[in-house]
Amino acid sequence: MAMSMRASIIHKTASDLRVRPNLADYEAERARFSWEATGAELGLRARGWVNIAHLAVDRHLGTPVEDRVAFRFIARDGRRRDVSYQALAQASNRFANVLRNLGVGRGERVFLLASRIPELYIAALGALKNGSVVAPLFPAFGPEPLRTRLALGEAKVLVTTESLYRRKVAGILGELPTLAHVLLVGDDGGSTAVSGTHDLATLMQRSDVRFDVERTGADDMALLHFTSGTTGTPKGAVHVHGAAVAHYATARYALDLHADDVFWCTADPGWVTGTSYGIVAPLLHGVTSIVDEADFDAERWYALLEEQRVSVWYTAPTAVRMLMKGGAALAQTHRLPALRFVASVGEPLNPEAVWWGEEALGLPIHDNWWQTETGGIMIANTPAMDIKPGSMGKPLPGIDAFVVARRDDGTYEDVGKPGVQGELALRVGWPSMFRGYLNQDERYRKCFSGDLYLTGDLVERDADGYFWFVGRADDVIKSAGHLIGPFEVESALIEHPAVAEAGVIGKPDPVVGETVKAFVSLKAGFVESEDLRMQLLAHARRRLGAAVAPKEIAFLAALPRTRSGKIMRRLLKAREMGLPEGDTSTLEAGA
Ligand code: AMP
Repeated sequence: MAMSMRASIIHKTASDLRVRPNLADYEAERARFSWEATGAELGLRARGWVNIAHLAVDRHLGTPVEDRVAFRFIARDGRRRDVSYQALAQASNRFANVLRNLGVGRGERVFLLASRIPELYIAALGALKNGSVVAPLFPAFGPEPLRTRLALGEAKVLVTTESLYRRKVAGILGELPTLAHVLLVGDDGGSTAVSGTHDLATLMQRSDVRFDVERTGADDMALLHFTSGTTGTPKGAVHVHGAAVAHYATARYALDLHADDVFWCTADPGWVTGTSYGIVAPLLHGVTSIVDEADFDAERWYALLEEQRVSVWYTAPTAVRMLMKGGAALAQTHRLPALRFVASVGEPLNPEAVWWGEEALGLPIHDNWWQTETGGIMIANTPAMDIKPGSMGKPLPGIDAFVVARRDDGTYEDVGKPGVQGELALRVGWPSMFRGYLNQDERYRKCFSGDLYLTGDLVERDADGYFWFVGRADDVIKSAGHLIGPFEVESALIEHPAVAEAGVIGKPDPVVGETVKAFVSLKAGFVESEDLRMQLLAHARRRLGAAVAPKEIAFLAALPRTRSGKIMRRLLKAREMGLPEGDTSTLEAGA
């Protein structure tokens, strides 16, 4: 790799590429590309229907791919279980029959709450085969975020483990009137007997291995992914079966998947990356995926990369920064000759992290950008492209991205010149675009202006067409790559009898990007104390779970509010960071 000035550009040459990249000539491929033709490659036109699980799994039956390992599951204790494409086809058929036998049909919601165990993946694919809608939940959520999402999504079925059920679900069952069936996996992966639930292993054994996949249409709902906004409840982003065409194309270009790859996507399926690229995309390409049940551990991760001979690795900036903390020396105790491409998503990837990849892994890290709503990667640094460390790269073929500014009349215009900040907008029409926020039409409509989808991210584009992330246009928090809605945290805090009002911000953190910090004022009769602070932290953690709860709580006599009564999180953040307070003309007197 030729490096001109550090942190400015990494030039790629043919010798940097160990295989011919799928996206060799950026401009030519963009000119040639069409979604229609890509769908036809997957047989959409000929078949006339599309079901993600059929494309991902059954399509490979009768081809050499059927005997290949689809998933290599590595349990926390290191035990390995290989599931071939053929075995996955059969197991997912059984799960589809489990649903059918329970009377669960097309369009009905099947929620998944488990660590990265085989049953989660089998259930996701089986539910898709049945035409049911899959809604994955993050296992580090506490009962409150789980209840909100299960209720909003009108869950009919929940697949979970015995211990998660006992700890997080049993207490909220009474508030979930639509939930008809809970299917449990034993904590050792086997059977369970908990009253009021079904034992999944028994139901699977009793079900047929043959199943006729539901002939869903490209616009039929397939997946429901929850995401957070600044205000109000979480939003259920609706994704459709036709999205598979985008998963296929984007994994080809931005992850450069080739048939003999061993791919490892470290994201949890509770977040969109773990589903789109942890389940669907690698299967569409017929590659072998590594799935590690355990959480981050630097030594374990290097050992996995080495022992499993991972060739393409898709991870996240927080993980990279945690590896950086461990030092390059630790990385260099492992030999990674199979590794040929590393990509990252979810939060800004600092230039130092890109360079660290070169030093520690022998490869730069390729940042890419997308979000729950886009369903798939939109902007990326691809293998053949020069990397400008700190940039998210360029729009993939099939994607038109713009930097726009709002006019006074509420419409948007292109900022026109490079180097000008504006909101990132995408021209609608790619197949994995979300089709709604479930039951929240108004919120959905507000995301569009004409044929543009407005992403809520502030960016700049440079003269070479590379996009640079500037920040979010709203107050949502990104912690360890997970999007957290401040309103959800504030709501849990004000449930506590001592709390009068709460304002929640993301506090910059060198490793996880942002940590959740809450400011609270107390009701009359309560006095601030260390003991109360601890009680509030524990209350939030119990309600929200470790992934969402604040790490820090500070007491304030009153929170800054606008005259219309909204808590000014922006001001809390500016004060926290010692930055100028900006326009405070709407601030309520005395705050
Ligand atoms: P989510 O919907 O949870 O996947 O979060 C999407 C948001 O994460 C985006 O709107 C961005 O704010 C942020 N994000 C994702 N990828 C990147 C990236 N490569 N650089 C900076 N921010 C990113």
